[in-house]
Amino acid sequence: MKPLALYLHIPYCLSRCHYCDFNTYVLDAGQAREYVRALASEVRHQAAALTEPRRVETVFFGGGTPSLLPAEDLCLLLETCRTAFPIAPGAEITLEANPETVTAEAFTLLRRAGFNRVSLGVQALEAGLLQVLGRPHTPARATEAFAAVRAAGFDNVNLDIMFGLPGQSHRDWRRTLDGVVVLGPEHLSAYGLTIEEGTHFGRLHRRGALRLPREEAHLAMYGEALRVLPAAGYRRYEVSNFARPGFECRHNLTYWRQGEYLGLGAGAHGYLGGVRTVNERLPAAYIAAVSRRGSAVAAREHPSPVAQAEEALLLGLRLASGIDLAAFAARFGLPDPPVDPTLLTRLEDLGLVALSGGSLRLTEAGLPVSDTVIAEIAACLAFPSGVCA
Ligand code: SF4
Repeated sequence: MKPLALYLHIPYCLSRCHYCDFNTYVLDAGQAREYVRALASEVRHQAAALTEPRRVETVFFGGGTPSLLPAEDLCLLLETCRTAFPIAPGAEITLEANPETVTAEAFTLLRRAGFNRVSLGVQALEAGLLQVLGRPHTPARATEAFAAVRAAGFDNVNLDIMFGLPGQSHRDWRRTLDGVVVLGPEHLSAYGLTIEEGTHFGRLHRRGALRLPREEAHLAMYGEALRVLPAAGYRRYEVSNFARPGFECRHNLTYWRQGEYLGLGAGAHGYLGGVRTVNERLPAAYIAAVSRRGSAVAAREHPSPVAQAEEALLLGLRLASGIDLAAFAARFGLPDPPVDPTLLTRLEDLGLVALSGGSLRLTEAGLPVSDTVIAEIAACLAFPSGVCA
């Protein structure tokens, strides 16, 4: 059976963080109950619609704040997945959680039900910075939540942390890095803050009222993560993701390697059989669509071979392992090398990429400017049509 990943979106949070543009809403408990029923129904519908049996290797409950739902509802949803799909023994089953919602009792139930990985949104270990972000937890609450997750029996835990925050100093960031290293999770995701339109930070930024670290300071914070985390035993396997050996997130690797997944829930994206889908975005519209027709797919797209190759490049170059150029060329019917060699030589001379054993990857110097470097390479894919911008 071919592998498959499942993503279940829980679009509720206690409050909206100031930087967040995810598809999430302040919890409405009545609607959330209907939402859980609709989501279980969509899981069954999508399983029945598969054209061939698939083996589920990873399940990811993301959000939003999935841990805001009663543990019983999360267990019921996981049980629905188990009944509808063959879930592989040893499948990775992740729950995203935020510290303010974690209790030892709930997480003990969740662990018993089969969840085996938790991703906890810590973000920072300074009270002032958490307030600036609009996060409802404190550093002490984050530490307690981590202890409760451990006590419940989770031995595969990720902590999300953020840098480049308004008012954050290099020392603040270093304290957060040191603090999470002391906690000792198996996985760390270190994200640089980006300012998105339509968020509270987006509005402040437009008015010039957001005091962000300068670009050099932002890059220096990322550089600090690149030094501190590997020294503490966390290997960087993606631009923003670090793990102890064997604890890389298998679900996210499916995305980065263009594997197939079903996206279930409001606004969830899926990719199956060469087709990309996106569900109704608003929870009420999602619930209505599922009750009307079983599925909530609002749009389908067949990405062109060019779009698929560009995406494979964008995602593959984010991985520390990089891209095997010959395999990439063969997969997309491109000449080998599939990228303009003059460009690659120039980027190599600048120290931004490395070519070894037929693989192309970003160097440490290329990582902080990864978006620019990857976009430049993507624009020079040597398609048979001769396209090289
Ligand atoms: S907890 Fe996460 S998903 Fe919810 S509002 Fe904050 S950043 Fe967004």
